[in-house]
Amino acid sequence: MNKPAELRLETVPFWINGRPVAPAGRHGEVFNPATGQVARHVAFADAAIVDSAVKAAAAALPDWRDTPPLRRARVMQKFLQLMQRDQKEIARIVTEEHGKTLPDAMGSVQRGIEVVEFACGIPHLLKGEYAENVGTQVDTHTLRQPVGVCAGITPFNFPVMVPLWMFPMAIACGNTFILKPSEKVPSASVRMAQLLKEAGLPDGVLNVIHGDKIAVDAILNHPGIHAVSFVGSTPIAKYIYETCARVGKRVQALGGAKNHAVVLPDADLEFAADALIGAAYGSAGERCMAISAVVAVGAAGDPLVKLLEKKAKAIKIGPGEKEGVDMGPLVTCQHRDKVAGYIDAGIKEGAKMVVDGRAAAKQEGFFLGTTLFDQVKPEMSIYRDEIFGPVLVVLRASTIDEAIALVNQNPYANGTAIFTESGGAARRFTEEISVGMVGVNVPIPVPVAYFSFGGWKNSLFGDLHVHGTESVKFYTRTKVVTTRWPHQDTPAPGFHMPTLG
Ligand code: NAD
Repeated sequence: MNKPAELRLETVPFWINGRPVAPAGRHGEVFNPATGQVARHVAFADAAIVDSAVKAAAAALPDWRDTPPLRRARVMQKFLQLMQRDQKEIARIVTEEHGKTLPDAMGSVQRGIEVVEFACGIPHLLKGEYAENVGTQVDTHTLRQPVGVCAGITPFNFPVMVPLWMFPMAIACGNTFILKPSEKVPSASVRMAQLLKEAGLPDGVLNVIHGDKIAVDAILNHPGIHAVSFVGSTPIAKYIYETCARVGKRVQALGGAKNHAVVLPDADLEFAADALIGAAYGSAGERCMAISAVVAVGAAGDPLVKLLEKKAKAIKIGPGEKEGVDMGPLVTCQHRDKVAGYIDAGIKEGAKMVVDGRAAAKQEGFFLGTTLFDQVKPEMSIYRDEIFGPVLVVLRASTIDEAIALVNQNPYANGTAIFTESGGAARRFTEEISVGMVGVNVPIPVPVAYFSFGGWKNSLFGDLHVHGTESVKFYTRTKVVTTRWPHQDTPAPGFHMPTLG
């Protein structure tokens, strides 16, 4: 007799010390958002599991730290080849657990792979500074040394790209790492850990654990973890930052967003509308760099809203793996219902509904159609809150000054974009806007891997951004060494503060 399907579900294991570990105990459910069915279970870590991962990472640290950077880079080069070899398979895992379309998943995996490419250059990136004769026959140089055992806690919306913002650079810098991906999309992280082992990474250098607040708190409070990278929503980012600061851990915590696009009347409106549609509804709006608010300046407003309406209605919704589909489902039923609740709130608050996506919610799976609101006011919750779904709101401004002031008043400051044909207006915007990543006629200005990614204000707690050269700073500690080799011509050490006089 066939067993009920429920009993045959596999459990996504932890990856500790180079092998899968799946203890009985607390676990979560991982859904396929396109069907609404539970696809597998995922083991949840408690403090004892976190401790075993820290022990594995700490044991692997001395040898890995002392491995020459060129050898560490060779592991990254091999990992890069394996990620390219398996890119489609990994993208399929992303689509299955997150819901985004396959081309979108492929693109996001590619952007993550580019961080691995950047990590291959680690020998050059770790070179320090040297200055001769800083005092009489005294020289100074700097060393960049690994921080120790690092941890990464990541969100559901980029199951591959965001973990790849963290562990390749951390490991290339000579640290060992514990990754806690989102429990909603856990499988791809374990697959990447397997590939790194195949690439020759010693056991214990990368460990993957899963879970919820219990696992996260065990990471934050473990004295054996020296640095924490976090990407997720603003309230949790703030909590991570404050907890790590209190216990003396190095921390970077990237939070949520409300990204504005300002459209000036001189912009190519057809081009702007095409760009905004992809930026607002791509990945069902579940992107931290999604454009969720358009500020239409002056005469741009009415024609832009007409174009957005036509294009938003034309978006094809369906399962992410199906060809020709533009937008997949949302990640969970709860999230879909939360986003739909914001649509109800927008109507109650008096915004003008132009496109209503709620009808699509009746399908099996966690679907929601595209929604467009016009005449939105800054005090409405659909503008104030990060909705993180396929809902685009349009606000009107009379001048570019008003538009800049509106963007600068918003507590979030991840990304923004301006659409214009005027170089002067674009330059002024990039100078005056208080946002971390800015696009000029580029709707989602995600920096490439060799620049650093990060927002300002409530979109980032900490100082250093991810990937690029700032990640080298985050994952290393600088040591400054001052050297003198005494011989007969060297002045004797003095009693007072040494100066050159
Ligand atoms: P989330 O904050 O709910 O979860 C992120 C991580 O924190 C997960 O690993 C989760 O297990 C853990 N977590 C959740 N609740 C916790 C709690 N109470 N205590 C401790 N840990 C907890 O975020 P999400 O829903 O997975 O992802 C969407 C959010 O991430 C959005 O706000 C989005 O803007 C943001 N995001 C930001 C960036 C960026 O670069 N700034 C990038 C991607 C996503």
